[in-house]
Amino acid sequence: MKDEREQMVYTIKSKYGLGSSDVLSVMLQIPREKFVPKRYRDMVYHDGPVSIGYGQTMSQPYTVAYMTDLLELTGKEKVLEIGTGSGYQAAVLSRLAKGVYTVEIIRQLADGAKKTLKKLGFRNVYVRKGSGEYGWRKNAPYDAIIVTAGLGDKVPEELFDQLKKGGVLVAPLGRGHDKTMTRFEKNKNGEIIREKFGIFHFVPFVEEKD
Ligand code: SAH
Repeated sequence: MKDEREQMVYTIKSKYGLGSSDVLSVMLQIPREKFVPKRYRDMVYHDGPVSIGYGQTMSQPYTVAYMTDLLELTGKEKVLEIGTGSGYQAAVLSRLAKGVYTVEIIRQLADGAKKTLKKLGFRNVYVRKGSGEYGWRKNAPYDAIIVTAGLGDKVPEELFDQLKKGGVLVAPLGRGHDKTMTRFEKNKNGEIIREKFGIFHFVPFVEEKD
């Protein structure tokens, strides 16, 4: 699996020109295959999303690297992730930040990710079953927030409330299938500054109210 992992990182660097060495060296160390059920493992190092059951997917390696890069973590941050899925993105974040709080709406995925992360020794990741539109108020405010499910045209206001001043929120946004990767920064005055990046595809963010 190590060779395949090296190939994965090489693809992110050469095909997409993504260069943050910290993110890539973390991705080189984490056994991505351990985050998916055995029946889906063949595809785990290919350059695309991987099924994790319950109609959900683990993001493409490039997407994980891209979103992590946009957070510009230094190791001191408290991060909130919405959409735990397999727990892989949370594992990557945990090696680049102080602590990761992650919320997943499907109970079986939340339980599965919690187990995997514990087994692999990721002690600074906390998983909770719940809906991301409420964030995780108890541990707020966060230095960084990442949404790994495709939102509509708005970020739930509650998430901005739980973001520290000077903090960054990264989320895929858009009405249709194409989502625009968007980075928001909450400045010292509490104003939100938006910056748009490329187009990505995601499983949809589910509103609990539906
Ligand atoms: N970060 C994940 C990718 C998961 S895909 C990984 O590394 O594997 C997106 C996940 O968001 C799915 O597991 C889906 O169930 C979850 N999700 C969708 N709507 C949600 C919501 N409202 N709150 C929390 N999780 C949600």
